[in-house]
Amino acid sequence: MLRLLLAWLVIACCCQTANAANFNNPQSMLSLDSDVVFAVSDSANVNGNEEWFYSADVIDRSPSQYLHFKVRVYNQLDTQVPVWFSISFPAIKTLAVTDGHNTWQTGDDLPYHTRAVNTPNYHFPSVLPASSYTEFSGTMSGEILRYSFSVATPEYYSNLYMKTLQRDMAFFGAMGLLTLLCALGYIASRNLVFLSFASFIFATTFWFFRVFGYAFELLWPNTPSLNDISYAISIYSVLITAFWVLFQTLARDNHEVYGAKTVKRFCIVLPFMGILLWQTVGLDIALKLPVVLFFPYILIAGIVIVAEHKRSSDRAKWLAAAMLPITFSTLILTVIALFEVDLYLEPVATFMSGLVMTCLFMVALTASYMVKVVQRERDAQKEAARLKSEQATKLEALVKERTLALELTNSTLAELASKDSLTELPNRRTLDMFVDNTFDKTLHDHDALAIALIDLDHFKSINDTFGHDVGDEVLKGIANILAPLNDRGQVAARYGGEEFAIAKRITKPNDSQSSEAEEFAKQLEAFHCAINQLSIASIDDRKLGACIGWTLCKGSNDIVEAFRRADKALYVAKDKGRNLIVPAL
Ligand code: GH3
Ligand code: MG
Ligand code: MG
Repeated sequence: MLRLLLAWLVIACCCQTANAANFNNPQSMLSLDSDVVFAVSDSANVNGNEEWFYSADVIDRSPSQYLHFKVRVYNQLDTQVPVWFSISFPAIKTLAVTDGHNTWQTGDDLPYHTRAVNTPNYHFPSVLPASSYTEFSGTMSGEILRYSFSVATPEYYSNLYMKTLQRDMAFFGAMGLLTLLCALGYIASRNLVFLSFASFIFATTFWFFRVFGYAFELLWPNTPSLNDISYAISIYSVLITAFWVLFQTLARDNHEVYGAKTVKRFCIVLPFMGILLWQTVGLDIALKLPVVLFFPYILIAGIVIVAEHKRSSDRAKWLAAAMLPITFSTLILTVIALFEVDLYLEPVATFMSGLVMTCLFMVALTASYMVKVVQRERDAQKEAARLKSEQATKLEALVKERTLALELTNSTLAELASKDSLTELPNRRTLDMFVDNTFDKTLHDHDALAIALIDLDHFKSINDTFGHDVGDEVLKGIANILAPLNDRGQVAARYGGEEFAIAKRITKPNDSQSSEAEEFAKQLEAFHCAINQLSIASIDDRKLGACIGWTLCKGSNDIVEAFRRADKALYVAKDKGRNLIVPAL
């Protein structure tokens, strides 16, 4: 703005001839910007009727017209000095320069290294004669965006560009590394913050690359439209990605960042605004728009950060801290550029340092945030594993408890199914199973089984005389005598009503089987005797009698027959007058 104001002041004192700039120090650079005068015409040559101005900003000019310039350099030294007349950063279509002796032309099709002049800063070699004037003049055409005229020795420029190159390469190296880090961060975490950083840092680096005229002038000389497009894309990308960084850094789950929607819409509209400006007002203004918008950007960023801070965002204050270096360095750059104050700081290097520091800060911030996220995820995984194992242990205990209960129920059920409920003696089913298993060779190796069937005498009359309960009591008394007989090799069961049965395994070889049978007979006698002696108070000590028929079963084929034999023997005993033991051998 200040420059524009100055330019308007300059119009008032526009002059016809070039001013002279005094060259008196070969160790420094002589800036000619305030001495060059400009004129516009439709032809590549001046006809003498042009009006000359101290600033080209004040002249209306279409890109098809030619911008003429001229400046006089007076060598105050008494020796001739070889110099370069330099025009820096001209984004031009054609450029012709003469010092009165030689003419240099660019905008041709020659490759860079074969040209008479050095690009990207155009340097025209000349010799300033001792104590004399040299008038440099020339013509530019096409879009002319930036230019700065100066004169210095080739050594001076070489040193200057070497330093600039070192500065720029350090900057590009740092920014390239940060871009790579952010890209890797994104690949590793899939967190969009890293991607926004990567694109912002890349766009900024690319923009600087373009501003300094690297690559494009060298690789694609004489392609001003390509240069302009690359410049336009990079500067618009810088602003848009800067917004992306701002909102992505503050993004939280299920939370709309303050102003995010509005800024998103603005970023979509911005390129179209640029195209519209380019087509109406001109490319120069269109390219200045994003640069100018960086100041409101800082303001918007500040508002958003404050708003998010109030909404208790833990990253807002860190983002504000990260933005401090770039804000301060931009301020310094602005102050130097607008007010041309000498701050003893190299403005571009200051700005670059601020930018690198901000990017570094942001990357470090996001990395630390990511570390926290990873740590939190790990803790959550550990907690989940702990809960899982705790649940598994609980489940295991529950299964154990249930299994035990089930086993208990099963064994109770099995006992109920195998026992007679009244006498608690094994029931007929248990006896049948015992008999069947006895001849299963895979389980036992028995040769014989003694079977006895017992039927109480005149039991019905006990029931009839003393009642059913007393009958039950008698049955229980019999069971008490039988119960101790039950062991691994013998089952004494209630066979039905008032009938009982005994099955005993005979394990001895044949020759001693008879002795085992005798033993069984003795056991039956003892049992029979016990029945006879059983006294039950309720039946007035009425003597109880029982008939026992018994036999030996030789094998599984003989089971049915053996029971029949024992039964027959029992009936024989009944027939013979009751209370008898009858073997059926
Ligand atoms: P016998 O000398 O010919 O064997 O005559 P008995 O009366 O003993 O034989 P019978 O078959 O005529 O009668 C058996 C009786 O046993 C009939 C039934 O009421 C009785 N009884 C069967 N089961 C039970 C029981 O669980 N409790 C009682 N109290 N009586 C039973
Ligand atoms: Mg009976
Ligand atoms: Mg009976």
